[in-house]
Amino acid sequence: MTVNLLEFEKQKFAQFCAELGEKPFRARQLMHWIHQSGVDDFDAMTDIAKPLRERLKADCGVIPPRVISDTTAADGTRKWLLDVNAGNAIETVFIPERTRSTLCVSSQAGCALECSFCSTGRQGFNRNLSLSEIIGQLWLANRSLAAAGGDDVRRVTNVVMMGMGEPLANFDNVVAAMHLMLDDDAYGLSRRRVTLSTSGLVPQMDRLGDACPVALAVSLHAPNDQLRDELVPINKKYPLKQLMAACLRYIEKAPRDFVTFEYVMLDGVNDSYEHARQLVRLVSPVPCKINLIPFNPFPDSGYTRSGAEAVARFRDVLMAASLTVTVRRTRGDDIDAACGQLAGRVQDRTRRRERRTATVS
Ligand code: SAH
Ligand code: SF4
Repeated sequence: MTVNLLEFEKQKFAQFCAELGEKPFRARQLMHWIHQSGVDDFDAMTDIAKPLRERLKADCGVIPPRVISDTTAADGTRKWLLDVNAGNAIETVFIPERTRSTLCVSSQAGCALECSFCSTGRQGFNRNLSLSEIIGQLWLANRSLAAAGGDDVRRVTNVVMMGMGEPLANFDNVVAAMHLMLDDDAYGLSRRRVTLSTSGLVPQMDRLGDACPVALAVSLHAPNDQLRDELVPINKKYPLKQLMAACLRYIEKAPRDFVTFEYVMLDGVNDSYEHARQLVRLVSPVPCKINLIPFNPFPDSGYTRSGAEAVARFRDVLMAASLTVTVRRTRGDDIDAACGQLAGRVQDRTRRRERRTATVS
């Protein structure tokens, strides 16, 4: 059976080379070829001796997920739909900006947490992605961008674990992938340039602070438990008081001295003046930035995007309380480059949408 080298953590490269009787620096050379140069052809690894190349060719491969489609929007946002077997598809989105280029990476096929406004949640959970499927998204993106030419900015400079799935529910594989992202022998990104977004799995947030304290984003979306129970049901297990305490503990370990709170603006649901006031009270003990996100509609979601006036009023309340607020622009609208939308169209494995429609009608 072919050994997929994208499944290898750093120690595994070292162990593998030791088993083959090779010197430790070979492990680093292999990592450089694969992760820095994006090479999958062992014959192209010119500083590796021929006998080792022959063994690698016989036993190993560099195998990312298969690309189903690759689309670029008018604004340059690029989206890959990837096959992860058994009819499962995931997506990876590249968002170029003037001074940085961000890759939005998926961690699971589907998601079990069923946030009411999220199309990934609607699809149900299929499985955790493996290390090669997670790091393979970055490998593929960098390779495609390098092939297209262009300057350095057209390479991935930042990663956000904000694609499909709850990254902290696939803890070991996500942490292994982020270690490669940070490793100077692989992608060499600084901890501040890798952001993990969670819906608030409190015990795993603590574990993350110890294992890999990257920048943290928390999907808040509601300023009180009653509303958050409805929008982000994991809140019933880890309510806001516990979540805020976990954020404070995380900040003590993280390189960034703030948490980013994400807040999707849902018309008439969580966007009133009073919600904004409650949010100020809730987050004020935590050093934070607040990111107001326009809702991305999908069929039968039951929600609509807040209007510009409601967003401005909400933002002004937060700013008047001296909070740092950003309002996210929508990107790649013409290719559905947001939050599980294209993969959601490809399939609805659990037929949840049909069941919902059946219940409603
Ligand atoms: N599971 C993690 C990370 C993936 S979702 C989490 O929930 O944080 C990434 C972000 O997109 C989260 O903040 C999520 O709440 C938000 N999101 C999900 N569906 C959305 C939608 N339809 N419109 C806008 N944002 C959405
Ligand atoms: Fe899962 Fe995040 Fe979607 Fe909630 S918002 S269902 S945690 S992917």
